[in-house]
Amino acid sequence: MKYLIEKINDLKIEKRAFINGRFVNALDAEIIKKKSSADQRDISGIASCKQEDVNIAVKSARATVQSRIWMNKEPQDKKKIFLNLADLMKEYTEELALLDTLETGRCYKNYFEDSIPKAIQVVRWFAESVDKFYDHAIVPRKNTFATITRGPIGVVGLITPWNDPLVPAMWKMIPALLTGNSVIIKPAEQSSFSILKVAGLAQQAGVPDGVLNVVPGIGEVAGKALALHNNVDGLFFTGSAQVGKKILEYSGRSNMKKVGLECGGKSAFIVSEKCSQLERAAKVLAQNIFYNQGQICSAPSRAIIANKIKDKFVDLVRKEMEKYIPKNPFDPDSRVGCVVSLEQKEKIEKFIQSGIESGAVIYRCKNEGDAYQEGYSVVPVIFDQVAPDSLIAQEEIFGPVLCVFGFDSINDAISLANNSRYGLAGAIWTNDLNEAYQVSRLLEAGIVHVNSYGEDDNCVPFGGFKESGIGKDKSIYAFDEYTNSKTTWMHFDTV
Ligand code: NAD
Repeated sequence: MKYLIEKINDLKIEKRAFINGRFVNALDAEIIKKKSSADQRDISGIASCKQEDVNIAVKSARATVQSRIWMNKEPQDKKKIFLNLADLMKEYTEELALLDTLETGRCYKNYFEDSIPKAIQVVRWFAESVDKFYDHAIVPRKNTFATITRGPIGVVGLITPWNDPLVPAMWKMIPALLTGNSVIIKPAEQSSFSILKVAGLAQQAGVPDGVLNVVPGIGEVAGKALALHNNVDGLFFTGSAQVGKKILEYSGRSNMKKVGLECGGKSAFIVSEKCSQLERAAKVLAQNIFYNQGQICSAPSRAIIANKIKDKFVDLVRKEMEKYIPKNPFDPDSRVGCVVSLEQKEKIEKFIQSGIESGAVIYRCKNEGDAYQEGYSVVPVIFDQVAPDSLIAQEEIFGPVLCVFGFDSINDAISLANNSRYGLAGAIWTNDLNEAYQVSRLLEAGIVHVNSYGEDDNCVPFGGFKESGIGKDKSIYAFDEYTNSKTTWMHFDTV
């Protein structure tokens, strides 16, 4: 731990915006003031961009679209650039993990072993696929022929969240760039350091100036300016459903720019009485709801359990929960760190209080006294006998809080699972093939797991239904998101 703390003290952290290939202060020199959630040290200084800064970024991105410097680059050349970027990110894994730990309070181990390697893998996967996909053509007619091709949208804005600063950003930034767009990223104000670092590495890897820009700042200011901009052609957002709805509105109020949204979730984890692997199910559930203090959009925050096995199952999850007591995020052995901010901690604690007041039964950790106290952390809890329409059952808490519901018939379980305005992910645990098939068919969720949860592979699309969003990240389908489809008709005379 001493080594990591010393490393942090030695880091030269870039906090300025990255516009047209240069790191620059915000025009009015304003900065964001904040403390690290991990140990409350002062980490102020990120540029707080405003409308004028966003205008300059849009202008330089537009210039690269007009010059076609980037869209005309051969796929093989773009591939080389992003494989270079992946190599550079790998070289800086430790630094990227430290920057994210410092800003978000999530433990270093998560970032170093999981999140940063995943982000690098995303860069590599998209880079490798860019010269391997095809567009379409109709069956040739006698005198006419038509092709259906994908081309860049133009200037693309990306707004990203703090809960995993690099992975969702890479899910968007890499396919958007590879398909020939020029990109402006507005990272969350809670987590801008690692994206700024990656922007510098991307320039080093060969991305031309102006093609990739980063405008850190407050969501309501810099984010709104980007989403409302008439010279931005597409806006892709990951964050809360509440802000996602505003993004749709901004598009309508400006130039009807193409919008993609990856928003929150309240995902259901159904366990049937016909499940023979209760211990494994409990372990997988705890891993997915308590990992990163529950700050994962697809976390299974609602456990819907057959009444016949509910008490036994809840006991098993309670045992697992004891393993997720928050520890010092800089301790390389800690598996759980802090939540992102005092504001987030207070928000989660308010939900816990509302659960208690709603009459749900609360189970706390036996060893909660061992929790790390110097940062903003929350000790996990489980609520049983939750009323289906209560606040804790319906709202995305985004914290280490599991709500448990009982059911008698599998159709009741499906109704309970679908009683949500979200539809990101879900799971059914059962040995009965009919149950597995019917539940996965009827769950209103973009990602369904059978006897599993949280599998992750870049080949597979990620995205939700209902208020969980519009469109997909990851996989070959992501290339559709960042392109416009064009039909070209051609006439040929008979020879
Ligand atoms: P948030 O919606 O508050 O902020 C997300 C981003 O939007 C930030 O960059 C923020 O600065 C910006 N923003 C805020 N107000 C804005 C406005 N008026 N105009 C433009 N931009 C604005 O969300 P958050 O608290 O940063 O992140 C947590 C949320 O993100 C959770 O709801 C979580 O489920 C969701 N999330 C979803 C996914 C997914 O892939 N579905 C992944 C990670 C996080």
